[in-house]
Amino acid sequence: MKLILLGAPGAGKGTQAEVLAEKFNIPVISTGDIIRNALKQQTELGKQAKDYIDKGLLVPDDVVIEIIRERLKQADCANGYILDGFPRTVPQADALEAMNIDIDKVLAIEVPDEKIIGRISGRRQCGECGATYHNEYKQPKQESICDVCEGTLIQRKDDAPETVKQRLEVYHEQTAPLKAYYDQKGILVLAYGQEEIKDTTKEVFKALGVEA
Ligand code: ADP
Ligand code: ZN
Repeated sequence: MKLILLGAPGAGKGTQAEVLAEKFNIPVISTGDIIRNALKQQTELGKQAKDYIDKGLLVPDDVVIEIIRERLKQADCANGYILDGFPRTVPQADALEAMNIDIDKVLAIEVPDEKIIGRISGRRQCGECGATYHNEYKQPKQESICDVCEGTLIQRKDDAPETVKQRLEVYHEQTAPLKAYYDQKGILVLAYGQEEIKDTTKEVFKALGVEA
């Protein structure tokens, strides 16, 4: 099973990706997480990416394409994977195709822009392990503390409202066209994001035609 998740920032891609990963027993490959990790470790990639991320812009295609090319060679990708946050531009999608990778389905999670900013403002992430939480929809057991590793929960710098507006613009300009791109190939399915995570999951399963 090779799956691509599309959706605006804050649409719930990461959360649903985790659910699907467990269901199909395949890894989630999140370019956002890979890049944030590189930032934290201050690697060369991290240094290259920092200014783009902080401004809400996309990291250049060639950089991200190389990250994915290397990541998909790893052993854990042998039985499939869920791509969360890649491809995000038509050139990235073309590059994936050029790698001779057959994608089974592309799931777009649809959430109206008006809802995005409010949702993102409640988002928190563990500064240690990267696990994600939300003040309304997915609270940790103990306030501000990660359930998984007891790390401290923080707000991503690029989740500040001004940056979110920029990211939404980038999404509509550069990423949303991928819906038509994959629709033409006959592999696009849509799920509408709901208030509750579990209700979105139901929509996602329905869209993919799998049993809950
Ligand atoms: P979200 O989906 O909430 O916007 P991500 O964690 O997927 O957040 O991405 C955060 C940032 O990482 C993006 O704004 C962008 O700068 C960078 N990034 C992630 N994936 C890609 C990609 N495929 N191409 C270019 N930049 C990317
Ligand atoms: Zn943690």
